[in-house]
Amino acid sequence: MPSVRYYDWIAHFGRRTPGKIAAIDLASDRRLSYAEFDGRISRLATHLRDALGVKRGDRVAVLALNTTDTLEVQFACGRIGAVFLPLNTRLTVPELQFIVGDSSPKVMVHDTDLAEVALTVAKLCNVSSALLLGPGGSYESAIAASKPLDRFESVTHDDISTIMYTSGTTGLPKGAIITHGMTFWNCVNLGGPAYVSPSTVLLTVLPLFHTGGLNCYTNPVLHAGGTVLIMRAFDPGMALQLISDPSYGITQFFGVPAIYQFMAQHPSFATADFSRLVIGGVGGAPMPVPLLKVWEERGVALQQGYGMTETSPAVLALDREDAARKAGSSGKPVLHTEVRIVRPDGTDADVGELGELWVRGPNVTPGYWNRPDANQSSFTDGWLHTGDATRVDEEGFYYIVDRWKDMYISGGENVYPAEVESVLHQLAGIAEAAVIGIPNEQWGEVGMAIVAVKPGHTLRPEEIHAHCAANLARFKCPRLIEFVDALPRNATGKIHKPTLRQKFSAPKATD
Ligand code: AMP
Repeated sequence: MPSVRYYDWIAHFGRRTPGKIAAIDLASDRRLSYAEFDGRISRLATHLRDALGVKRGDRVAVLALNTTDTLEVQFACGRIGAVFLPLNTRLTVPELQFIVGDSSPKVMVHDTDLAEVALTVAKLCNVSSALLLGPGGSYESAIAASKPLDRFESVTHDDISTIMYTSGTTGLPKGAIITHGMTFWNCVNLGGPAYVSPSTVLLTVLPLFHTGGLNCYTNPVLHAGGTVLIMRAFDPGMALQLISDPSYGITQFFGVPAIYQFMAQHPSFATADFSRLVIGGVGGAPMPVPLLKVWEERGVALQQGYGMTETSPAVLALDREDAARKAGSSGKPVLHTEVRIVRPDGTDADVGELGELWVRGPNVTPGYWNRPDANQSSFTDGWLHTGDATRVDEEGFYYIVDRWKDMYISGGENVYPAEVESVLHQLAGIAEAAVIGIPNEQWGEVGMAIVAVKPGHTLRPEEIHAHCAANLARFKCPRLIEFVDALPRNATGKIHKPTLRQKFSAPKATD
């Protein structure tokens, strides 16, 4: 494979459509045309290389709430062959210390709001250079004082462009290696007219340090010459207001199920104007079918997709015309992506049979940073084991049923919590619900439903038990019910089940 100018998109559209708006930073109302965006990236790249000594392969960390500056760092790193390292803003100092110690960046770019944490971590990990974002910060003055970059560093498909540490739901966080080629192929795979075009206007609310915010669909939309609006942190009322506002003309939105749940519960959901929205994409966690119906009643057929950080991220996507008919499915494989459903013995499952999803393609990670052990256990002949329990129907539509590890076994029967959670969501009073397996002497494990009730509603345990009994086989019905104010979630809004397991795992029930 010859070397290619990956991350050339902004420079490309800076020449072709210089005046078109590439990105809007909603918090500061900065509107960057492709030419301005390109110019800032070019000067930042010069500063990183010449003033801060960032060389090919060096890591550049960013700790910031969503801003267009984060995208500039990504593209500047791409131009000089450096590695973009976005950090999760919700992590504590010891967690960040582990990640920064593991990846040893040369520079830390950070927000004013996060300066204390960033500088503490930088000091603990001996990161000598820091750039402060925001008005009057060293990031802006560095851009103002630098010349445009004289040349792009040439890179190949396999050169590392980004390291993204995964949520760390089990054990220590792992840095998924994302190559230049992977990011490019994700843009190609999601680049068809079914997903993005130059007229796409995307509202990005998921964090840019997560693959859902960065690569689904922010990078693909910029790769197509469209426009992205970057929201600093998700706010359901503001998101509904922006989508309804004709002056922005938002055509595309992407969220995890919790984001759609929060929006559906907001008072302005009933009157919001979704008429310009072409794609409402959802993925990242099991989507309860009743929530799909709530949006369908408002005229929005949400298109579910499936992916992972390690696949940068798109693997499956449901097209608009199938969204209502195949509600609950994550669709079919995207371009250039192969999938298999595999039994525990390594053979392929039949249609309708549950197995583990394996993925292969140019968008799949070559492995984890500094983790040969994880690389060994995650792949078979180039196929990435996703850990997701999946089945395919006779028309080739895939259904992600649950995580293998979230599944629990009660009296010898497998229970997939996502199915039970979907049934719980049918109850009008449920705001949030999660089901976990709890050790039990008699049954091995029994289900526990942990629920948060909507304000103004009451829900008694007997009502929940009766609803489950009417809709689920007996072995699937949760024996235990706990009420909480809110469920613990990670930075992208996914329910954090390990925290629930830790809190509620003491054996309590017999039946
Ligand atoms: P992350 O790397 O943080 O994006 O997490 C990837 C994981 O999110 C996958 O392995 C799945 O367990 C889960 N996930 C992603 N999309 C879906 C989906 N459509 N339905 C169910 N789970 C999903």
